[in-house]
Amino acid sequence: MKVAKIELYEVSIPLPQAFCPAWIPGYQRKYNRSTLIKITADNGLIGYSTGSHLGEAYGGPSSLLGQYMIGRKVKRMDEIRHLLREGSFLSWQNNSMEPAFWDLLGKKEGKPVHELLGGDGGRLQVYCSTGELHEPEVRAEEVQAIKEMGFKSVKLRVHDHDINKDIEQIKVVRKAVGDGMEIGVDANQGWPVTIAKSSPIWGLKRAIEFARACEEYNIAWLEEPLDMYAFDEMAELRRRTKTPIAGGELTSGWHEHKMLFEKDSLDIYQPDSLYTGIGTAVKIMKEAAKRNLGFSPHTWFDGIGFAINLQVAAASHDRRALEYPFDPPAWVPEFRDFLLKEPFMVDSDGYVTVPDKPGLGFEIDEQALRQYGCKYYEMDKNKI
Ligand SMILES: [Mg+2]
Repeated sequence: MKVAKIELYEVSIPLPQAFCPAWIPGYQRKYNRSTLIKITADNGLIGYSTGSHLGEAYGGPSSLLGQYMIGRKVKRMDEIRHLLREGSFLSWQNNSMEPAFWDLLGKKEGKPVHELLGGDGGRLQVYCSTGELHEPEVRAEEVQAIKEMGFKSVKLRVHDHDINKDIEQIKVVRKAVGDGMEIGVDANQGWPVTIAKSSPIWGLKRAIEFARACEEYNIAWLEEPLDMYAFDEMAELRRRTKTPIAGGELTSGWHEHKMLFEKDSLDIYQPDSLYTGIGTAVKIMKEAAKRNLGFSPHTWFDGIGFAINLQVAAASHDRRALEYPFDPPAWVPEFRDFLLKEPFMVDSDGYVTVPDKPGLGFEIDEQALRQYGCKYYEMDKNKI
């Protein structure tokens, strides 16, 4: 089986309501937009993946970055450099294509990808990953509703300049839902994006103070409390708190993960196969297993991104709950997974069924692709 054709489609659906991600303060996301990656093999089989970019990324830097470059002072070179780094988080990643080849391999062998990776399938518990910042009382009510849906685990966001307000968020929610629900907290400091609005940047002191406050409210994990490359500081933080430290969602290469392992920087590794590729994610998973550490893939994109990371999680030694992006009314399965024939739904126990069809296990809704997609790239063997 050989690669015969590569096609990319920009797909974009208006959200039912603007979504304000905590990790890009000041930015309103009005569309669920991504690139559908379609790889056709010479035997006619088709493999899919998805690429994330919030603005139109083809032909240069993402339009999201471009609009914030305008008006910047050229001599402020540190600021320019920082902005370019932020833009790289939000635009095209070549590794996003790699899962499509696993899709092809699985389809050729007639096996789901998790089976190729040594997994069992079945059902997997998921946690409700909220994405916006809401007032503590509002969020507490929402988490109650999430609990009633069947979720047994939830992740909150904190992003205030005032640490006391961040602590208030976890305190109020914990009090409202009681001890029966697992709560994780994401500080989103790994790859801070400040292009739209200034945002608090944590140092070790604040991270320690917050992590210790998390102990009191029995927080199951604290995610990305420091920059993704703060290897030594994260190791120091781990020594100074009992709260498990998680991270690595946009850390794309094995060599950087090797540094994280060697420095003992994390309790829970959270690679995203859209940034690492499935092959590297599995390498990280095996290293985490060897060291008796946690593994829980990151996934916050569309349904295809969830499907890919679900297959990897289903092959893991660590059966902890997998991230499930859900923050109604703006971010819900029908819009998150609009390109799939069957959106991934959570059952009344808080579980998702791992597809056991060959490959990544989803089917593209061709009508939705016609309605919301536009092909912008095609390369085949005749066009060299
Ligand atoms: Mg995160």
